Amino acid sequence: MLLVDTHTHLDMPEYEGDLPEVIERARAQGVEYLLVVGTDLASSRKALSLAQANKGLYASVGVHPHGASNVTDKEWEELKGLVHSPKVVAVGETGLDYHHLFSPKESQQAVFRRHIELALEAHFPLIIHNREATADCLSTLKEYSARSPRGVFHCFGGSKETARECINMGFYISIGGPVTFPNAHRLREVVKSIPVERLLLETDCPYLSPQPQRGKRNEPAYIKYLLPVLAQLYNLTEEDIARITTFNAFQLFGMGTNRQEGKIAYTIRNSLYLNITNRCSNTCSFCPRLEKPYVKGYYLGLKKEPTVEAVLEAVGDNIGRYDEVVFCGYGEPTERLDILKEVANILKEKGARKIRLNTNGQGDLINGRPICAELAGLVDSVYISLNTPSADEYKELCSPGFEDMAYPALLAFTRQAKDSIPEVTLSVVDVPGLDVETCKEIARELGVNFRVRRYNDLG
Ligand code: SF4
Ligand SMILES: [Zn+2]
Repeated sequence: MLLVDTHTHLDMPEYEGDLPEVIERARAQGVEYLLVVGTDLASSRKALSLAQANKGLYASVGVHPHGASNVTDKEWEELKGLVHSPKVVAVGETGLDYHHLFSPKESQQAVFRRHIELALEAHFPLIIHNREATADCLSTLKEYSARSPRGVFHCFGGSKETARECINMGFYISIGGPVTFPNAHRLREVVKSIPVERLLLETDCPYLSPQPQRGKRNEPAYIKYLLPVLAQLYNLTEEDIARITTFNAFQLFGMGTNRQEGKIAYTIRNSLYLNITNRCSNTCSFCPRLEKPYVKGYYLGLKKEPTVEAVLEAVGDNIGRYDEVVFCGYGEPTERLDILKEVANILKEKGARKIRLNTNGQGDLINGRPICAELAGLVDSVYISLNTPSADEYKELCSPGFEDMAYPALLAFTRQAKDSIPEVTLSVVDVPGLDVETCKEIARELGVNFRVRRYNDLG
């Protein structure tokens, strides 16, 4: 397991006696990437020197809102100079703290603006501390929205609505030890509303130790205590949470490597997904297929379409251990109907328990013949993306290459599928403004199941 602690204060005196051991214990838990976050000029300098001296450590430079009124112009210029040093990956921690008010609001706001400017100039993400200052924090950031600031709200403790606003602005949300506290029911409910694609993990050490270390000095190895809690909240495995949040941290901070070969077979929970093509007869507005073909921490961009042998090799042995095998990915599997059928047939023989096809329902048009009967005995379940309650809206949302023929074809495919495939489901993605009820009614009339997938939650 590979993990990132995106918020540590390892520069603090708490670690003077045993920092090498602390880093060693983190590595032993898979926490190989640590971000040391500066809180003033001296601490930013120290964060940087730790990062430069230790593999896997990175630095962020900034002035905590607590110290905002103390920064002189000279200090700020020096801090700005640090940004371009190797291993600096972010600006902060900055933000607003109206709880303690160690610095007056006006100077906190002014210094926050300086950080935002600096991050935008340097093309770095911001690490934001917000305490009881949500409205000002968000409105200040929005002043810069034309330049798309990026970053993370660290140790998030706000409401679902605030989380949604941060996400809509393109920010990530970082969760620490408090999510493990027995009485943190509200926070756990909020976390559930955050797409896992925007989630980061942190300790904020030496503060905020998770259960069962609560009250003691915190350290990066304790990230492990977050995993079971988050896995349960998201109905994912601990490995899924680790892979996805690590991927997210790499994306945001530009550390590590993300550009893997496109995955042909990948697991989420206990399902095996097969990505056999990136081609699709639609160009749905919500689909990241063309720009960002990532799903749950996997990169799915294929350099070339895999052969049957390549798919089988990617699948590996012991296919019977998966709950289901799903033809999915960013692309339309029926674009490669022959490969799909051959692989499904072989996997059935090898003991696959259940085979599902996720499709846009245009397979008849793509292949120039009705294809449902050919899937009988090979596919146990089919999910067809209905997406909209009418053909006009479908054209608008999905830009089908088959234009006016696409929507009727998908309805016809759904009707025929009932004769050959045991389980047939129409699905929609709850993009804002969609008339879900009418879609549900269509599924009812066709006599098939209905499922709503969360916007931004593919896979
Ligand atoms: S049908 Fe699926 S793969 Fe194709 S563009 Fe739409 S969302 Fe993407
Ligand atoms: Zn901090």
